[in-house]
Amino acid sequence: MRQPLVMGNWKMNGLRADGLALAQSIIDGLNAGDQGIAVCVPFVYISEVGKLIESTPLALGSQNVADQEKGAFTGEISASMLKDCGVTYALVGHSERRTCYADTDQTVAARFCQAQKEGVIPVLCIGETLEEREGDKTFAVIDEQLNAVIEMAGVEALANSVIAYEPVWAIGTGKTASDEQAQEVHKYIREKIAEKDAAIAEQLQILYGGSVKPNNAKALFSMPDIDGGLIGGASLDAESFLSIYRSI
Ligand code: PEP
Repeated sequence: MRQPLVMGNWKMNGLRADGLALAQSIIDGLNAGDQGIAVCVPFVYISEVGKLIESTPLALGSQNVADQEKGAFTGEISASMLKDCGVTYALVGHSERRTCYADTDQTVAARFCQAQKEGVIPVLCIGETLEEREGDKTFAVIDEQLNAVIEMAGVEALANSVIAYEPVWAIGTGKTASDEQAQEVHKYIREKIAEKDAAIAEQLQILYGGSVKPNNAKALFSMPDIDGGLIGGASLDAESFLSIYRSI
């Protein structure tokens, strides 16, 4: 039985007071027994939000992590720094990092490895662009993005990770993959991993991301291979985010 997970990705939104108020509203809406809910906070506010949500059911995540361990990498944030600030999850390979900041399958795999080495759970984001989907390349893109990590980290590394399938055409666009479209890719990802290790594939959390809102979350989350969501825009409003979480 897989534990569901709903993660918010705040991206580059809000200032210190906004982040603290949002985190406070989320934790006010949670009960002591809740689990499987996290927020990925901008780096500069990670420590402070981390202190606020410490000892609450809300887990702390980052939106990226360096692909190197330490040293002369100006502007980068290492996995050990994140661990030191109480981070549980780190997004790696979000499509905005791939498209706007030249992240490649190799740098994403290196980030994945760095996070895991420090005990931070990498959330590997994969997904196709509209052009790739229309060119029937969805599964080839998934294979490439997934294989780069498996080649560098080994399939066993997936045991302590999360995968987020995020079709690029659905991120921040208001277009959501249909429940069936999302399920088809989630099932494909799980089957691909099962070819290498059935036990890991069975317990792996695979989240869906791309314009998940309170009105479509329940149907998406009821698909057999969708174990929760990575939520961008709707995670900036505590009520919407909690409503999505309660849809699980
Ligand atoms: C995301 O940023 O990962 C995301 C899925 O964004 P949105 O929910 O806004 O599409």
